[in-house]
Amino acid sequence: MLFGRSKKNPIKIADKGVVEWKYAACGYCSTGCSIEVGLDAEGRPVASRGVADADVNRGKLCLKGIFEHELFDSAGRGLQPLIRDHWYQPWEASDWDGALDKLHDEIRRIQGRYGRDSFAIISTGQMLTEEFYTLGKLTRGLIGTNNYDGNTTLCMASAVSGYKRSFGSDGPPGCYEDFEYTDCLIAWGSNLPEQHPIIYWRLKEAQEQRGFPLIVVDPRVTMLAQNAHIHLPITPGTDVVLQNAFMHVILAEGLEDRAYIEANTNGIEALSAEVEHYDPVTAAHICGIDEDTIRHVARLFANAGAAMQIWTMGINQSTHGSDGVVGINNLALLTGNIGKPGGTSLSITGQCNAMGTREWSSCSGLPNYRYLENPEDREEIARIWNVDPEFFPKKRGLFQTDIYHAIESGQIKGLWLIATNPMSSLPNTSRIRKAMEKLEFCAVQDCYQDSESTQYAHLYLPAGTWAEKEGVMTNTERRINLINPIARSPGQARPDLWIFNRVAERFNREGRVKFPERASEIFQEMASISKGRLADISGMNHELIEQNRGIQWPYTEQQAARGEPPPRGGKRLYTETASFRYADGKAKLIPLPFIDNNEVPDEAFPIWLNTGRLIEHWHGRTKTGKLGNNNKYSPIPFIEINPDLCAEQGIRRGEYVRLVSRRSDAVVMAQPTQPVPKNMVFLPFHFHDCANRLTLGLLDPHSRQPAYKQSAVRIERIADQREAARLSMEMRKF
Ligand code: SF4
Repeated sequence: MLFGRSKKNPIKIADKGVVEWKYAACGYCSTGCSIEVGLDAEGRPVASRGVADADVNRGKLCLKGIFEHELFDSAGRGLQPLIRDHWYQPWEASDWDGALDKLHDEIRRIQGRYGRDSFAIISTGQMLTEEFYTLGKLTRGLIGTNNYDGNTTLCMASAVSGYKRSFGSDGPPGCYEDFEYTDCLIAWGSNLPEQHPIIYWRLKEAQEQRGFPLIVVDPRVTMLAQNAHIHLPITPGTDVVLQNAFMHVILAEGLEDRAYIEANTNGIEALSAEVEHYDPVTAAHICGIDEDTIRHVARLFANAGAAMQIWTMGINQSTHGSDGVVGINNLALLTGNIGKPGGTSLSITGQCNAMGTREWSSCSGLPNYRYLENPEDREEIARIWNVDPEFFPKKRGLFQTDIYHAIESGQIKGLWLIATNPMSSLPNTSRIRKAMEKLEFCAVQDCYQDSESTQYAHLYLPAGTWAEKEGVMTNTERRINLINPIARSPGQARPDLWIFNRVAERFNREGRVKFPERASEIFQEMASISKGRLADISGMNHELIEQNRGIQWPYTEQQAARGEPPPRGGKRLYTETASFRYADGKAKLIPLPFIDNNEVPDEAFPIWLNTGRLIEHWHGRTKTGKLGNNNKYSPIPFIEINPDLCAEQGIRRGEYVRLVSRRSDAVVMAQPTQPVPKNMVFLPFHFHDCANRLTLGLLDPHSRQPAYKQSAVRIERIADQREAARLSMEMRKF
């Protein structure tokens, strides 16, 4: 009798001829995996592998990390500076001096003619922290525009705003180790297996060992929802209603932690009065979750010894994004679930260094969570940087999303875009296009020359990418990790830090403000001004960070002097009684009335449009669209659509259809699948000139983050499938 092979066929790893491995942190998502890139005998990057003794990923990488070494050789890189007088003219090659003089002269010309704030600067969550700090010093200390922001407004602004409102400061209080202690976890609008695969692996390992209940709140039956004990398919944009209903049950049944509330919070009376209106019967009609399930989940959460909540864009990208975060924090404070192992509210961050820009870029204030609104903060930073404190504005300027409206209305005339691509990432692209065409001057600094926004630029500056540079990044759990320079940038491309320092020379002819050249020196300056603050990094340096495979903040010079080992996991904020960042140390419980202002489906546009990310791709695919090993999984724009909706509309699998919103239309391939409800389609946002042609993107009043996930569309069949395929190919771009 034949039984086939008696031994397993082992995985064979091709010998790539690696002679040296170099250490870095992954440059895609905020998980913060430690990675090593293998170089062959000619010094070419030929392989990537996870670092076994790194606490975050313990040797693992996801699909993007595994092929990250291929990035160094990807198409579309900018090789030299380019200049032109008008955006519609052909480019002319320039040298760096000519290009940087042009940038300086245009900034000063526009500011001289229209005022300091008429020139805007928008950066990113993709650069290294020392680069963010340097850009902040240049912008706030020398250029002096207040219209300076990061593209993190598109992903994490609601988390930042919600943390500040509840706790008095930004800074996620929890860590991945909390999965190993929690007794109950609610995931709000977060599909970890696709968005943050290695965080999901940490969660899954902990859950398999201890079997705590996992509750997923998401309109789709996502991969995480399929692995949950309870899935709550909520009506889009109504999270605040469900949160209020949970708190209604907790307070009505006396399940709150009175001692914790008393010692650590203000505002319980006002909160109790507000949630009184959200009994489960009323709430069920708005949020679509039945009353029994609301009561059951509220009791499960409140009765758990330690309960945690995580969330991602399903909460943040909403007109109630900031309120949704405050609602999560309310629920955590009400049940005493902050600052204890397994009890936390942990925002899962988006970009690899969105945390670094929150901490150090000075976009929304001054470095290390200092406020422009605080005179002492302005005085202190002015003294350290050697600038006049009166040069600083006394409150923050426009958010990124409002900067484009100010271009539209003529208040802003010039723009410097750094590693961000608004023509792909902002909602309602046609409105953004008109704004970009109005600019008197636009500079784009990016490692890729072929980004959509470069076509509207008058100046292009080719930058280095990821591990062509040296510096640190901070991950979701406040862990700072090091990137070493592994490869040289191609052609004349230069690291962003080099570019900022050369620009600074032009605004700082007398050398009044110091701009160190080396990332390690800049880190020392940052460490020295972090002493005694929430994000105290004074005990760290680059060498120590690499040795420990990343260190969580805070880690102070006193701890280092006492010989305390740097935190490699398990470090939490707000562990002491009344240690929040408001003056009395108490967090705020904030009432959240629900205002229904979203675009919702109607007769003309009867389907919800939900947008989001795929595991194989990163943002606008300027990187992953060019790597065959990533792109092959989803090379063309498509929608996930419920098979019943397909049958009703006569749509076949693989057929091209036209999605139409009040803004515009897009041609996509239909992929019938059960996880999306019948009244919704899911459209990955990665494809050129596609998802954001359709989105409305109403803005959250606190965070100014767009509601990408709540638009209304209709679906039209297309008779000429050959023409539809051609239109869809145009949206591929890469
Ligand atoms: Fe990189 Fe995120 Fe994947 Fe880790 S999970 S390898 S950080 S993309």
